[in-house]
Amino acid sequence: DIKTPLLEIKNLYVNYGAIQALEDIDIVVYEGEIVTLIGANGAGKSTTLRAISRLIPPRRGQIVYQGINITRSRPDQVVRLGIAQSPEGRRVLARQTVLDNLKLGAYTRSDKLGIKSDLEKQFIIFPRLAERRHQLAGTLSGGEQQMLAIARAVMSKPKLLLLDEPSLGLAPQIVREIFSVIRQLNESGVTILLVEQNATLALQTATRGYVLEAGKLVLSGLASELLKDERVKQAYLG
Ligand code: ATP
Repeated sequence: DIKTPLLEIKNLYVNYGAIQALEDIDIVVYEGEIVTLIGANGAGKSTTLRAISRLIPPRRGQIVYQGINITRSRPDQVVRLGIAQSPEGRRVLARQTVLDNLKLGAYTRSDKLGIKSDLEKQFIIFPRLAERRHQLAGTLSGGEQQMLAIARAVMSKPKLLLLDEPSLGLAPQIVREIFSVIRQLNESGVTILLVEQNATLALQTATRGYVLEAGKLVLSGLASELLKDERVKQAYLG
């Protein structure tokens, strides 16, 4: 039973000027998985997602998606191929309404009816957004903005969803709601690469995980195994 990866990162190096942010990273994501990247602040988790979305150029290495080398693709081409990122800090357009933010998420699509039905789907998944569809995004709570950022990414119809710190700064009840939606999305067929500061929650949600330290991979395996690993427990599970 040979599985083909949906995403394969091979020997990836990323620099910010003189700072080496990623060094020799190898990551594989299979269709249907939730894979998590854990690590301390500055370990390179966000940089990995930004490299996949093509928001920063790698210095070396390859990013292959569905057998296509996307290492030099444009960010919008990557979205068209089925990769969407919900960025850290939420980055919704504060002066636009919830509805307009969601429509922007569908900018690569031209199937008007499909977009309309997907908008309604988001409002079912996120009832808080439905009630606030005409409200300016900047007036939403942190948790609601996070939900909007995820819903906006989903509007591009991704096969692979990149989530950067969905729990950051949010109250436990909202975090539970968001993680329940993440599982729901995965069950509906979306493969997920999840970057999380909350390693316990991430490993409880994921199938497999990778541990990054100072730009390097130090450990990887089944999430259930990583949860039991002494090194992971000591460093990340508080
Ligand atoms: P965090 O959770 O704090 O975002 P992270 O694991 O996602 O941590 P990255 O944001 O990927 O880490 O940062 C990796 C390294 O690259 C850090 O040393 C960081 O200071 C550096 N870095 C990130 N963005 C830039 C930038 N735009 N310019 C210069 N250095 C950067």
